[in-house]
Amino acid sequence: MIGMDSAAPAGFDGAVTRFAPSPTGELHLGNARTALFNFLLARRAGGRFLLRVEDTDLQRSQEAHLTAVLEDLRWLRLDWDAGPDRGDDRGPYRQSQRGALYVRFFEALERQEAIYPCFCTPLELEASRRAQLGSGRPPRYAGTCRSLSEEERRRKRAQGLPATARFRVPSGRRIEFIDLVHGPQSFLSDDIGDFVIRRADGTAAFFFSNAIDDASMGVTHVLRGEDHLANTPRQLLILEALGLPVPRYGHVSLILGPDGAPLSKRHGATSVREYRESGYRPEALLNHLFRLGHSSAEHGLLDLEGMARAFDPTHLGRASAHFDAQQLRVWQKEAAHRLPADQALAWLAPVLPAGLGEPDAKAFVAAILPNVVLPEDALPWERVVFGPPPELEPDGEEVVRKAGEQFFAAAAQAAARSGNDLPAIVSAVRASTGKKGAELYMPLRLALTGRSHGPELAPLLKAMPAGQAQARLARFA
Ligand code: GLU
Repeated sequence: MIGMDSAAPAGFDGAVTRFAPSPTGELHLGNARTALFNFLLARRAGGRFLLRVEDTDLQRSQEAHLTAVLEDLRWLRLDWDAGPDRGDDRGPYRQSQRGALYVRFFEALERQEAIYPCFCTPLELEASRRAQLGSGRPPRYAGTCRSLSEEERRRKRAQGLPATARFRVPSGRRIEFIDLVHGPQSFLSDDIGDFVIRRADGTAAFFFSNAIDDASMGVTHVLRGEDHLANTPRQLLILEALGLPVPRYGHVSLILGPDGAPLSKRHGATSVREYRESGYRPEALLNHLFRLGHSSAEHGLLDLEGMARAFDPTHLGRASAHFDAQQLRVWQKEAAHRLPADQALAWLAPVLPAGLGEPDAKAFVAAILPNVVLPEDALPWERVVFGPPPELEPDGEEVVRKAGEQFFAAAAQAAARSGNDLPAIVSAVRASTGKKGAELYMPLRLALTGRSHGPELAPLLKAMPAGQAQARLARFA
């Protein structure tokens, strides 16, 4: 298994981690990075990486989103050891299928009166929130239903009022833990209002199912977004009340756009799908994400195995990381240029001309790959290679005219004899005109491609249909 050969940093050996997406939308770069870090930690530590679907919010969760998230994770090759499609004795891995387990824990909390039914309506809660904000206090649950008598509860139930279940936060406590990224954390329980752990429709709320599942799935380390830091004390209270094991938490800094605001749509593409569909390579995206909020001495393009060896959870930084489209493009260029022939062909296949046979497609791809960063960059070269004779770029006319007709007559004759063979054409022109260097190559490049710059000429010619070189050169003879 990846990473088994290198010892994990102290305290992480055998780490069981998880990625816990809520299928309410696309896989965003921030979540993809969370998945990557958890994957790498498990691989580095010789542990396990789990995929848990947090779909208890039935209104917002959609099967189509889950399918898309799984597809993106597979594309990134962040393979999970257990998940919704690959069960084990800790599963099922969809929270919507774990209701029976949650009921058991709800009942345990009920027995110790650690939770109580709350009949407050959303409207009442909103009014209370506004009133608190209006008087300059941070909003938290006012405790309205905390001390209802059994009789009052029965009456409200009899009226058919729906009830959520709230966790009774103990007063006067200090809740402390050491965050893997942010260090020692301390919260006062008096700042935390009683919070909902079961919705009125009976489904488990995030704080509850998330904590219960980490404990019951044997998760030892949780790397997640900083936006969850304030949730952790609540989850610690739940786990403590139930006597369940507590994972180590690390809250990873947010990803910001170049302007310092949290990365969002207005910065451009933010979902993995958008990058995938515009032809980004998974290894390019992974290499950029790997270095956002994680410092590494490895500066080259790494595969997942290399990243797992280089991943160090103690090198996760507190400072927010900036997503940098330019840097991503640098990784993309390197990843694209390193592709083996068959993978390069598969990558560019969607933009290749229909009906192109495999050998021709391979020759074309090999010729242009060094000049391509994204698949769309292949299109102009397709026109050059397979299209009608290209017009010369503006300054090219003069260069071609200066080379003269004899130059091109010799070139066209050589092409008629030898086909699209650059060395044969070059030596015929040299013999006939005595030209060398740029004076020899530039007019040929211009006549053949219309441009003064581009991929290496010999392979480009080889990729052209038979007779193409001759026809293009003969235009100037
Ligand atoms: N479903 C939560 C989310 O997507 C998971 C949070 C966590 O990793 O604990 O934000």
